[in-house]
Amino acid sequence: METYDLIILGGGLAGMCAAVEAGEQGANVLLLEKQDELGGSTVLSSGYMAFAGTDIQENAGISDSIESLMRDMMEIGGGVNEQVLVAAYGRRQLDTYRWLVEHGVEFRSLEAVSGHSVPRGHSIDPHQAIQSLYRKVKQIPNVTIHFNAPALRLLKNDEGQIDQVLFEFGAQEQTAQASKGVLIASGGFAKSEKLLEQFAPHLKGALRIGGAGNHGDGLRMAWEHGAWVQDLPYLNGTFGFHPTASGAVKSQGLAFYKGAIIVNQFGKRFVNESISYKLLGKAAMEQPDGITYQVWDQTVMDKSVSDDPLYDFELLRRRRLLYVADTLEELADCIDVPLDVLIETISRYNQGIHNGGEPDFGRKSLTHHYGKPTPIEKAPFYAFESTTAMLATYAGVAVNAEAQVVNSFAEPIPGLFAAGEVTGGFHGAGYMTGSSLGKAAVFGRVAVQTALKDVPVK
Ligand SMILES: Cc1cc2nc3c(=O)[nH]c(=O)nc-3n(C[C@H](O)[C@H](O)[C@H](O)COP(=O)(O)OP(=O)(O)OC[C@H]3O[C@@H](n4cnc5c(N)ncnc54)[C@H](O)[C@@H]3O)c2cc1C
Repeated sequence: METYDLIILGGGLAGMCAAVEAGEQGANVLLLEKQDELGGSTVLSSGYMAFAGTDIQENAGISDSIESLMRDMMEIGGGVNEQVLVAAYGRRQLDTYRWLVEHGVEFRSLEAVSGHSVPRGHSIDPHQAIQSLYRKVKQIPNVTIHFNAPALRLLKNDEGQIDQVLFEFGAQEQTAQASKGVLIASGGFAKSEKLLEQFAPHLKGALRIGGAGNHGDGLRMAWEHGAWVQDLPYLNGTFGFHPTASGAVKSQGLAFYKGAIIVNQFGKRFVNESISYKLLGKAAMEQPDGITYQVWDQTVMDKSVSDDPLYDFELLRRRRLLYVADTLEELADCIDVPLDVLIETISRYNQGIHNGGEPDFGRKSLTHHYGKPTPIEKAPFYAFESTTAMLATYAGVAVNAEAQVVNSFAEPIPGLFAAGEVTGGFHGAGYMTGSSLGKAAVFGRVAVQTALKDVPVK
């Protein structure tokens, strides 16, 4: 049987950061990837990473801090997220940002997105990031990657330590030994109808977008060995996708974080548009027939950000996904909502904004405490039919701050580590944009540091 120091399951951002970290520490590593390519959900993502205190923020004149990042995360998570995990993220995030830059990951722009009280969404091209880490791995002879190699089960030794992985490779089942542990980095279960039916029946009508191999395999392997699970009750989709969106064609727009309102098919607002887009996703699913539109004016359109995965509204227009009208009458006609209600909704909203805060849902900012809403009054007017997509599960095995998987008594399961979307507890009841890619990178590295710390690597 082949023996390694560490076996990593999954080649998304968490697994690839772990592979580079472990390889550079001299460990003998096997990474198993179920698909024929790396990337999982990571390469489908919008590429925002949440960091505070970076040079990019400093150059843009943005003042941010670990304390503010953690406060926002706890607030967005409804206070039910694990503070120790959030604190560990806070301590390690800046170092991870710099590590990514050193390892060739290019950061492109900075935006305020869901849950940001200041702009802290640092965007990457996720393909470039994965390829860059892959190039590093290929330079490290002690790291082996097997493609088309799904991990099937984890096995324990006589001392109760997880130290073997059963996997498929070349149409055969094989077992490999991992003397210092196994890291589960196999992503979430956005592509498992079975698990979604079990844990998120309320998301039946939501679009499904996510890595093709993300069926919750790692979750089930960890459960078999007594792993506790967290955040399942908070599973929600993400709002802002056009109903035609898919993994390949995302067609997403978050005009509401630049000042759009969201109305249902009766022309009524139903939510404070500045809250986490996970909570917006839940509210949108509860609307009649799940039909909703983002509605905005030219003032918001002028904030379109070219080439941005979330804010390029001009691209949505070029793709003919926007309704554009010179008057609200015409717009109401295009999207088939009652004109009088739409006009009443917008004039009430505008009045509230002029008076310092709208009265119905208490919107005071564009996104979480950031930016001032503007009235919707400057023609032309735009509408974007929007729906909710289940794209990342953000719930899963419980881990401690050292990325050790823990049982229902919060005791580490020897030899078992997890990082990335397969883990729960970090986000709680909401989600800050960029914290999922962020946690994948941060805790992928933390897991390796924990696994390798006790026994010196040869
Ligand atoms: C459309 C979309 C937009 C998003 N935008 C953002 C964003 O802007 N910012 C952000 O922070 N998050 C975003 N997310 C979420 C984020 O992309 C994921 O949570 C994150 O990439 C997860 O990384 P990961 O390494 O844990 O898992 P993944 O990147 O999903 O990688 C897991 C890998 O494990 C493999 N695997 C699965 N089972 C097995 C097995 N049994 N054996 C071996 N390998 C296995 C999979 O094939 C996959 O390659 C977005 C997600 C989507 C889908």
